[in-house]
Amino acid sequence: MSEQLSGVVPLNMILYTTLRDIFGSVIVAGQGMNMCGNNLANPLYRNRTQYVVTSWGEYYRVCCPFCKENRHRLWINHLYGQPNLETHYPDSWLAVCYNEECTKSPAVRQQLYHMLFGMQPRSQRRQVMPIGQGEAMDGPLMTAAPPGVIAKLSELPATHPARQYVIGRNFDPDWLSEHFRIGYTLDVTDARYNTMRGRLYIPIFFEGALVGWQGRTLYDPPKGGPPKYYFMAGTPRKRILYNYDVAKKWPFVVVVEGVPSVWRIGGPGVASFGKIVTPMQLSLLISDRRDRAIVLLLDPDARDEMEGILGELRSLHKQNVVPVWLPPKYDPADYTHEAVVNFIRSAASSCGVSLPAW
Ligand SMILES: [Zn+2]
Repeated sequence: MSEQLSGVVPLNMILYTTLRDIFGSVIVAGQGMNMCGNNLANPLYRNRTQYVVTSWGEYYRVCCPFCKENRHRLWINHLYGQPNLETHYPDSWLAVCYNEECTKSPAVRQQLYHMLFGMQPRSQRRQVMPIGQGEAMDGPLMTAAPPGVIAKLSELPATHPARQYVIGRNFDPDWLSEHFRIGYTLDVTDARYNTMRGRLYIPIFFEGALVGWQGRTLYDPPKGGPPKYYFMAGTPRKRILYNYDVAKKWPFVVVVEGVPSVWRIGGPGVASFGKIVTPMQLSLLISDRRDRAIVLLLDPDARDEMEGILGELRSLHKQNVVPVWLPPKYDPADYTHEAVVNFIRSAASSCGVSLPAW
């Protein structure tokens, strides 16, 4: 479920290729997302507004040349180098080093700017770069409809392959049916969703409404076969968190990559649908209860992404964050519930955060 760049054009092609030329390796994060925000009343000056960003959008990650790290921890926004709409000057803080905070120094920021744009022909340097059309991150979320005829897992006969599949992964089909409304797609009513037939149906609710769904094959497909997970087109997965409605009532949340890990964790689990946590997902996590602890539990192959998210949370002044570094090879859903809870509670206590057993 990791983000894939293949075949997708970066929003700011000129900046992306410039970075490729200089740094060689560039990782795209938050791919295809626009920066967006709202004009809000300025708390200090009457009759003035200020632009508050709700989503920073696409970033290009490179290895920071200032602290000489090799984990792509210098994050450069796709609007870096573009004139600010209000001041008409480029915003140099759109590049941030999460390794040693190199970019806190104005001299370093200026050096980076020259490194990037000093190489461009003078004729191009002051030109506004064409920015591609990204995924809209604002506007209301739309209500979705299921893909067709769905049977609850709890209504299927004991020998049904869908029940057998989840039992094989050490889940209780009746519990999944009751708590996550997991079902089985008997038939589709829309030919676009033919691939959903015979898949596990995983509805995605947000603020009480069905906003999308996922389908899971009842087996692990071979390479080149059908996708293991299939999303309803238009599922706003970068703007929401799976199971957020339930998790927000808990005194802490556990952020994982995928839906089965949420099933393993239960109530406090939320899934970001991938190895990155988007700015809108970050704001969901920190907005309503600043005192709530956030546990980060990505799959063990996502260490660098975990570090990036930790850096972002700390830059948002979020202090009680608990990273759980799982041993290699096994994802959270591969363990028993009790084992995952033990991992989480011992990581939390080593951070000075006390969590109840659940
Ligand atoms: Zn650095």
